[in-house]
Amino acid sequence: MIDELEAWLRAAAVRIHAEAPALTALDQAIGDGDHGINMDRGFTEIVNRLDQRSPAQRDGSDPPGEAAEAVELLRAAGKALISTVGGASGPLYGTAFLRAAAAIGADGLTSAAALVAAIEAAGTGIGALGKSSPGEKTMLDAIMPAAAAAKDALDAGADIAAVAAAAAAAAEAGAEATVPMLATKGRASYLGERSIGHRDPGATSAALLLRVLADVAAGDSAEAAGSGAASTAAAD
Ligand code: ADP
Ligand code: MG
Repeated sequence: MIDELEAWLRAAAVRIHAEAPALTALDQAIGDGDHGINMDRGFTEIVNRLDQRSPAQRDGSDPPGEAAEAVELLRAAGKALISTVGGASGPLYGTAFLRAAAAIGADGLTSAAALVAAIEAAGTGIGALGKSSPGEKTMLDAIMPAAAAAKDALDAGADIAAVAAAAAAAAEAGAEATVPMLATKGRASYLGERSIGHRDPGATSAALLLRVLADVAAGDSAEAAGSGAASTAAAD
């Protein structure tokens, strides 16, 4: 579990770095052109902190130890994002990770149910901090549909990889669905009607993170780190 979680964070950093120009281009259209730079800085710091973990912190061989370590990894990632990403997205993504850490609790991230709880908690945390809800052209338009699809998959008996795949697909559809939306939160809202016709950068990065998670959960970390569906970010 820890290995997969760490693999996800590392693969996400590689993908965010590769997609940073595309994310920044999206933010140039309806924001201030820093989203890719912000996210790349944050995930670089996450990887730095992973590299610095002491052997004692890595001793998660017994199940309770592993669960605690998963919580700690997510918490550390959230703190890294809060302290380095800046902008609106730093605190929002940071809170998402902290809430996900709290949601998985003592069970760790071993079950499909825990993954659903983590994604739901991430979305709820972002909405609470950002005073935002789906339909406002933000990252929530990727994360909330992902949480709903993940829950549906869980209820239908899906395993953790299938839950992650359902979440990723819904997040990608949700990010695409931001194109015709009018932004009412964040910098893009300053543009009013002119925000219409552009894909939201935060929804795009959220879908990217969930796609990497699905790839890692499917046991495909090469695909996770490589160039995949998120490169469509440049197409808008
Ligand atoms: P900034 O807007 O401060 O430059 P970023 O460019 O890093 O920060 O992130 C912008 C993204 O943050 C947007 O594309 C949007 O998805 C997300 N965002 C902004 N405000 C909110 C909010 N109140 N709730 C949810 N997401 C938001
Ligand atoms: Mg910006």
